[in-house]
Order: sequence, then C-alpha cells, then structure tokens
Amino acid sequence: MSRHYLLPLALILAACGSPEPEEQAQTREQSQTQEQAATTDTAALHDRLLTLDTHIDIPLTYMTEIDPYGDTDLQVDLPKLQQGQLDSGFWIVYTPQGEMTDAGFAQGREIAQTRINAITRLTRENPSFGLATTAADVRRIVGEGRHAVLVGMENAFPLGAETALPELQAYADMGVRYVGITHFGHNQFGDSSNPHPERDVAAGADPRHGGLSKLGEELVRRLNDAGIMVDVSHAGKATMMQAAELSRTPIIASHSGVKAVADTARNLDDEQLRKIAEVGGVAQMVALGSYVKLPTAEQQAARDALDAEFGDRASWDQAKRDRYGERRAAITAMAPEANVSDFADHIDHAVKIAGIDHVGIASDFDGGGGIDGWRDASETQNVTAELVRRGYSEEQIAKIWGGNLLRVMEAVEAEAR
Ligand SMILES: [Zn+2]
Repeated sequence: MSRHYLLPLALILAACGSPEPEEQAQTREQSQTQEQAATTDTAALHDRLLTLDTHIDIPLTYMTEIDPYGDTDLQVDLPKLQQGQLDSGFWIVYTPQGEMTDAGFAQGREIAQTRINAITRLTRENPSFGLATTAADVRRIVGEGRHAVLVGMENAFPLGAETALPELQAYADMGVRYVGITHFGHNQFGDSSNPHPERDVAAGADPRHGGLSKLGEELVRRLNDAGIMVDVSHAGKATMMQAAELSRTPIIASHSGVKAVADTARNLDDEQLRKIAEVGGVAQMVALGSYVKLPTAEQQAARDALDAEFGDRASWDQAKRDRYGERRAAITAMAPEANVSDFADHIDHAVKIAGIDHVGIASDFDGGGGIDGWRDASETQNVTAELVRRGYSEEQIAKIWGGNLLRVMEAVEAEAR
C-alpha cells in the first residue's frame, strides 16, 4: 500500500491527535487543504471520465445462484460498480481449453452458452445495465447514467472446427464483440503464449502451428467480416504478429502486461507493442498481480522447493491441496504484493513504446485480477488518481480509460460486411 492510500487514515489520526505548536498545525492544515483539493479534483475528473474495463470474468453460477445487482463476494457487482464509478466493461465468456474432439467442442459450446445467457439476463433484468454492441451504444448507455455491458469471448475454442466457423455470426448476434484466439494451451486456431504441459509440450506438439493455423487465418477473416475485434491476449507471439498482419482491422490485447516490467510468458514485448500501435490497435494493461510484479528470487526459490516437496499434483488429496495452499500463501506474504503504482509502471512503459493512443486498462476481476489499491471495482478511482499523480492530462487519461478502445471498436464496425 503506498502512502497515497494511507492518507485518509493519516487525516483521521491527525484530527484526534494531541495539541501541537500553532505554526506546525498551520502548515499541516495548509497541506491538508491542498491534498483535499487535489482529491476533490481527481474525484471530479474520475466522475467526468467514461471508464471502460476490457476484462471482467463471471462464474458459471452468475445470475442463477449469484445476484450481481446486490452485494456479493465478487469483485464486480452493481454496488461496487457504482461506488468505483466504473461505467462499462466487457463481461467475459470464458471457456477453458479442452480436448479438440467433437465431445470437447460440444462441452466448450455449452460453457460459452451458459455465460452468454447469464450476461444477456444481467442486461435485461435491471435497468442499471444495458447491453452495448457498438461504441455508440456504450456512450449512450453511460450517458444515461447506466452501466454499459459488452461481451468478450476468451478462447475461440468453442467455435469448433470448420463447420462451426460459419456460426460465428450467431455469436456476433448474441453480442460478442471481441474473440481471444487462444487461452492456456494451443488450440485449433493457433499457438498460445503458454503451451499445455501435457497436451502440447509432453506430446511433442509445441509449437503446434507456428502461429495461426489455416483455420486460425480463416477465423481472423471471419471476425473482421462479423465486426468482432481480434483479441491476442493469451496468444503466442507468432500467433499475435500474424494476426496483426492479417487482420483488416486494428487488433486488441484485451488483458496483457508488458515484459519490460514483468517478464512473464503472458506479457507483451516492445516489438509486439510497436506492432499493435502500427496497426492502430490497443494494448489493455492487466491488473493481475503475478503479471504486474514478478516474485522475488527468494519467493521463486521457495516456490520451486515447495513444488519439488509436494510432487505430482494429480495424486494430491484435499488435505494435501489445503496444506499446499497454506504454504503457498505464506510464500506470497514474503514480499509486498503488486499495487496500483506497479500497475501504472506497465501503463507508463506501454505509452512510452506504443504511444498514448494505443494503451488501455483491464482488471481481470473475478478471473485472478485485483491488486493492492484496486482490489475490486469499488476502488477504481485509485487508478485514475495514480495516473493524475504521474502527470497524465485529462485528455490522455480519457484515452487510456476507454477512448482508445472505443476508437478501435468503431474502426472494426466500419469494416464489417
Ligand atoms: Zn485471461
């Protein structure tokens, strides 16, 4: 937690402290007044912004067992969206990578449909939400004081093999406006940034396609035709670079960090950032702790030792899983977790390399995201405050918080046929 977030507490403590010399008290009052004015300015600025988060996950029980119109254990629900003034976002139709068989595809389609149904219900049963399928929809719905809900698909796996591709239009009709080519593990469309240890690596199928497969190339063309953004988060570098070349429209990385700050397989290197800028796209920086900040050498060594001690996961019973979880949490606690300042380092670097017009924000809430200071949607102002503190202008912050993404969306809408 940075000093900035401690300030309100510091103010409270100062207010109930013992008497102090008059001069000191005056100086303190002055700096408090300045700080309060800055806080008020930032709050007003945050209020004026259209904020758009490109990655909000949902559990499979969303809208059936979980009611997101009230308080929930989720990081995103209506009260938290209101408190944090998070105006809009992509709610995610995530499908884990399964076996590339007819049975696997059928299971993938069922999972995808469950989540699409939930998001549709979310936007139909409470006027605080509205389904947005165009950039203009987002601006209109947010202008009405409501939350604009867009649909993004994470992992194209449920689209199946050739026969299912023509059905892409059906997903477009259900509101899907971006499709991520892969998740963890290579699939029928392309190689992932993270090959599956057994299915890909141990099976001698890494790389599987060397980027996009023929079917993957067809997917990119069909996404362009359907007016759906091509998302390269989770895609391997070759897949991503080929998609950028092939797509008639700008591509997006819906939730990725930068390797220059945290060198993980999932994050983008400078060449990728430049390519995204070159094609007019946008890289949305993700607030997921392990992609924002690397473990210390000490933590990594402790994790490796723990993994070696516990052995093959497949053989663990529940008690052993619990013991592992406790030990793993203790290792995590060995160093401060990623915070909003660490997150802003990714934004700064992406802006430096790709330019202010090609960077945005994604929380990955309810999918592993959340950092100290932006733990859930209710704390969204803290991200704006950090950008203000780093000297970004209101115009620049508006671009980062959604303007850039909406520009890409409009470009993609214009190319649909
Ligand atoms: Zn993801």
